[in-house]
Amino acid sequence: MKKRIAIVGSGFSSLAAAAYLAKEGHEVTVYEKNSTVGGRARQLKRDGFTFDIGPTWYWMPDVFERFFNDFGKKPADYYELIKLNPAYSVYFGENDFITIKDSLEKICAAFEEEETGSSIKLKQFIAEAKDNYDIAIKDLVYRPGLSPFELITPATFKKIGQFFSTISKEVRKEFDNPRLVSILEFPVLFLGAKPSKTPAFYSFMNYADFGLGTFHPKNGMYSVIEGMQALAESLGADIQTESVVEKINVEKNRATGLSVNGENIEADIILSGADYHHSESLLDSKYRQYSERYWDKKIFAPSSLLFYVGFNKKLKNVEHHTLFFDVPFDAHAREIYDEPAWPEDPLFYASFPSKTDDTAAPEGKEAGIFLIPLAPGLTDIPELREEYFEKIISRFEQLTNQKVKNNVIFKESFCINDFVEAYNSYKGNAYGLANTLFQTAFLRPRLKSSKVKGLFFTGQLSVPGPGVPPSLISGKLVSGLIQKEIAK
Ligand SMILES: Cc1cc2nc3c(=O)[nH]c(=O)nc-3n(C[C@H](O)[C@H](O)[C@H](O)COP(=O)(O)OP(=O)(O)OC[C@H]3O[C@@H](n4cnc5c(N)ncnc54)[C@H](O)[C@@H]3O)c2cc1C
Repeated sequence: MKKRIAIVGSGFSSLAAAAYLAKEGHEVTVYEKNSTVGGRARQLKRDGFTFDIGPTWYWMPDVFERFFNDFGKKPADYYELIKLNPAYSVYFGENDFITIKDSLEKICAAFEEEETGSSIKLKQFIAEAKDNYDIAIKDLVYRPGLSPFELITPATFKKIGQFFSTISKEVRKEFDNPRLVSILEFPVLFLGAKPSKTPAFYSFMNYADFGLGTFHPKNGMYSVIEGMQALAESLGADIQTESVVEKINVEKNRATGLSVNGENIEADIILSGADYHHSESLLDSKYRQYSERYWDKKIFAPSSLLFYVGFNKKLKNVEHHTLFFDVPFDAHAREIYDEPAWPEDPLFYASFPSKTDDTAAPEGKEAGIFLIPLAPGLTDIPELREEYFEKIISRFEQLTNQKVKNNVIFKESFCINDFVEAYNSYKGNAYGLANTLFQTAFLRPRLKSSKVKGLFFTGQLSVPGPGVPPSLISGKLVSGLIQKEIAK
């Protein structure tokens, strides 16, 4: 039952699906509009510096292991993984920060220094989070979101209350210290919504953070993309870059192929790993499942303003990952989710991969990535980007007690307009569709089209959700559905 399968895009989910489907013996071709693969996880190289354009946090190493094990391989066959110690640090004021080390014991000691007795509560909180991790990441997320019954298991039934409480509430029940509260609320930001809108059950992200740790693949996250590309190609997948998909062709409610760079290509199955909203725009309107109104009402994960900066010296008082939580989160969160606007006082994140990885910058120099989360759909103009660089770099200098402005060799920025142009991203979102209670599993855009036979979707706007590990899982889930359809 060998089929011709055409895949749109080459992000994590598409590459994962390409590998699974090629392994089943299908003729798989991936069409990527950009000149390199990887989607949001592409790489920027300049003047001897190397930056990950998108993801920088390698969390949930077990998901990557499970992916490669499905092919009789392991991550180490493709890239070298470094466990970060410290995992990261969080600034709350001038020379005032908490460092999160690489084991729960050490993190408990840091908590205890902040608030006496907090380490006991932390251990209990993380034990519950581990339990949730075992239920969610080892089982539930590997279900394709076809029915609400997928979520009803004896294990989830016992935890039902946690679906109707929020991370914010649960954390605040146990911890008074506002610094510890913001550290414990940080991991669910990866899911794209406010902690006050994220079900308490999602505390499995805290286990990923404190229980499993933060890793860095040598040469950056892009080395995972390169590994997956090598794997998919070794199984026979053909990956074509600079191939813009202009249309998904449909005849009598069945997908028949793609128009790529003006040429018609026939296929038995079409899978799109491009942003779901864009993928549906490639169809005649009668074949779209979701209206503009549907997308407009959804809670999207933030977009971002990013800077990739080459410094001509090593920086001090920062770790590989450093968070700047020295301004109130609530005001910035309101400007992302409730009243979209450029933030008055933004929280920001900075990563210095050259702290750990000598391939990221020439000797004696530092590679810096700065990220400010923003509401999708804001007006993005060069003057605003400049204003915000000035804003955060001045704060950075003050908080970390060093001068760096005159040490910038170059800086490049990436923001809303670039997300739209580079990835056809809806409103320039960076991390897809947020995971809230009403945007979980079967309530998310479907992996399989209900209107067109032989048409499937994958990626961070679909099931299970945003982030690199969920994208790998999405590629696996959709491949399973495609196999089922073929076997019918
Ligand atoms: C700045 C940033 C930081 C992040 N940080 C982290 C992190 O630290 N850890 C983490 O786990 N996750 C992180 N994420 C999220 C993670 O990167 C994404 O969830 C994941 O990469 C999404 O993969 P995907 O397969 O859904 O698709 P994408 O990466 O979006 O790939 C879609 C592909 O489709 C292509 N495409 C679109 N339209 C067409 C067309 N018409 N024809 C051909 N090709 C097309 C695009 O060019 C793109 O290559 C981050 C994301 C961003 C943007």
